[in-house]
Amino acid sequence: MTLGVKLGHTLAFTADGEDADAALKGMVEAVRAGLGEEVVPAPLESEAPALAANERLVVVRNPHGLHARPGAMLVQAAKKFEADIQVRNLDGDGHSVSAKSLMKVISLGVKAGHQLVFKAEGSDAEAALAGLVEAVNSGLGEELVPLAAAPVAEAEQPEIHQVHDIAPNTEVQGVAASPGTAIGPVFVEAPIQFDYPEKAADAAAEQGKLSAAIKQAHSDLADSVVKATQPQAREIMAMHQELLDDPSLAEGAAERMSKGLSAAAAWWSEIDSAATLQAASPDALLAERAADIRDIGRRVMAILCNTSLPQKPDTPYIWVAEDIGPSDVVNMDPAKVLGMVTAGGGASSHSAILARSLGIPALVAMGGAVMTLKQGTEVILNGEAGTLWVAPEAEQLAQAKVRQQQEKALAEKAWASRDQHATTRDGHRMEICANLGETAKAVEAVEAGAEGVGLLRTEFVFMAQSSAPGLEAQIAEYKKAIDALDGRPLVARTLDVGGDKPLPYWPVPKEENPFLGVRGIRLCMQKPELLETQLRALLTAAGDQPIRIMFPMVADWSEWRWAKDMFDKVQAEVQAKDVQVGIMVEVPSAALNAQVFAEEADFFSIGTNDLTQYTLAVDRGNGELASLSDGLNPAVLRLIKMTVDAAHAKGKWVGVCGELGSDPKALPLLVGLGVDELSVSLKRVPMVKAQVRDWSLSACQQLAEQALLASDANAVRALVGEAK
Ligand code: PEP
Ligand code: MG
Repeated sequence: MTLGVKLGHTLAFTADGEDADAALKGMVEAVRAGLGEEVVPAPLESEAPALAANERLVVVRNPHGLHARPGAMLVQAAKKFEADIQVRNLDGDGHSVSAKSLMKVISLGVKAGHQLVFKAEGSDAEAALAGLVEAVNSGLGEELVPLAAAPVAEAEQPEIHQVHDIAPNTEVQGVAASPGTAIGPVFVEAPIQFDYPEKAADAAAEQGKLSAAIKQAHSDLADSVVKATQPQAREIMAMHQELLDDPSLAEGAAERMSKGLSAAAAWWSEIDSAATLQAASPDALLAERAADIRDIGRRVMAILCNTSLPQKPDTPYIWVAEDIGPSDVVNMDPAKVLGMVTAGGGASSHSAILARSLGIPALVAMGGAVMTLKQGTEVILNGEAGTLWVAPEAEQLAQAKVRQQQEKALAEKAWASRDQHATTRDGHRMEICANLGETAKAVEAVEAGAEGVGLLRTEFVFMAQSSAPGLEAQIAEYKKAIDALDGRPLVARTLDVGGDKPLPYWPVPKEENPFLGVRGIRLCMQKPELLETQLRALLTAAGDQPIRIMFPMVADWSEWRWAKDMFDKVQAEVQAKDVQVGIMVEVPSAALNAQVFAEEADFFSIGTNDLTQYTLAVDRGNGELASLSDGLNPAVLRLIKMTVDAAHAKGKWVGVCGELGSDPKALPLLVGLGVDELSVSLKRVPMVKAQVRDWSLSACQQLAEQALLASDANAVRALVGEAK
């Protein structure tokens, strides 16, 4: 019991007695057979690499190999020693790199089960070797997998479709992300599996295959560029062509082929290392290019392995995927996508926000089972109830079709009255504005009946560039929205980056908890000139038009004072005519101290996405916790009430610009709590206006009072359901 035997350890059995021989043989066989577990092919003695006296071998058991985080831990461990330490991956191409360079370590493409050899030279070489072996064996900050269960190479992974199954005519509960009913066949975008030999004898022949495949992929992309209907899709494909032209990928693969790898194995390991390296980049935009590298990698692999990439159907479908990101949406044809379903994500995750901005019914956090659906299975997606009805029977289908017709009629009615005010039955007027991520959409917002822009996420101006945009460029950008709004107010949020979304030209140290780290206004305080230029640009662009400026992630009075001083200084110079300056309430401390902030701030805009995340301690993008992440939790509602009461006591106004404003069940509560303005995704503007007209302020106030006393978000939802 106390031997503490680990993988790779040597056991010696001794036996006495008349069947000692048989016992020893039996024991050796039993251990070799795995003692009831699958065994990893450990190097046989004859295959074990010959190691020099200053070398040590260790097997990596981190589930995803040495990706950025464990890689960084390894490098830190190596840097503690004076010795020159080299490391090579016996299961990669075998070349040695410095163990003190993260880029180099990551470039080894170390996966679970790979064998690393450390070599050290110098005064503390012996201690360095022992320390590094110990560091790898203790997991480099990660939990280790037993090697028998280590993920197998990508090409050998089991078919994901065999993992689960959903019985026909079953309703699966997820999280509602974008309202509406969609009925149609699913297209499940499962990760593709490639089948290829690892080794090949004729390097020249393999080289020929790879060159031909790259050429073919290039010409396929050129065709797609010509056919693409959306300009953004065209740009992405042109960028992929450029990536394919990058000689370093082909050269890296050629080197691997010269060492005996097949074309496919060489190409994929080159792509994998390049993408891993890219993903480790501390700047978010560069890190996102990893997905592009893998994308072109897959194109070439599909040709090499004669595998067809999943083709989206030509007829309308409900798109099912693990997750859906901005670049997926760029490539999609909104006319064909009836609905979106993701296995992961949360109600305020990117895929949910994207779906709402496109006006497509969507569900998130459905769990892995949805990935097992058979292609073409008919489903009913209920974007209000958060359910997916799989292979429905005629009765459910008929009901869903009726609901869809009703929704269509309501949407048409709402669109027809989009230019009327949003006034409750008893005469209380709400202001309904649009959330924008790009200034160019302001025209559409006005067309949809928005009374202004309630949240302009100005990050887009900064994130699309390789360096900070200058004053003139920013003025031109903001003017686009101000001109389109034609006298309606523009609420612009100053730069909200950092932590989980750093800027390429503004490296920030990696943080353990980026959501609790240097984000929003905290980051701007480190680069005052950036905020100053932005404020100058916003105020100048506004001229005599109404502009409201607000600061994100304000948690403390000192942050507000700092930002407000900067604003006052710039405004004293620019003297824009119609200006208000406010605070985004997204951290509970801002709501709790709203009375103090209301002394100085002209308005508050409640960012319920972050306010919910920080109040309930639930990561907004974590699919597993999505059902907890509900802004209708009475705790969040209480913070909203505190904010409204504090603001109104000082004659200031309060908006809600988080996703909660688009939730029909939240609407009467926000009205009842006294919120003055709702800023919602552009496509929801006509419907939110119509929904306000359906309620009376007195009913909303009663409901809000009850909701504040409810036990949880479900009870609040039930209350609203009963009231309607
Ligand atoms: C919010 O947190 O609610 C918000 C509107 O800001 P973002 O979603 O951009 O963080
Ligand atoms: Mg926020």
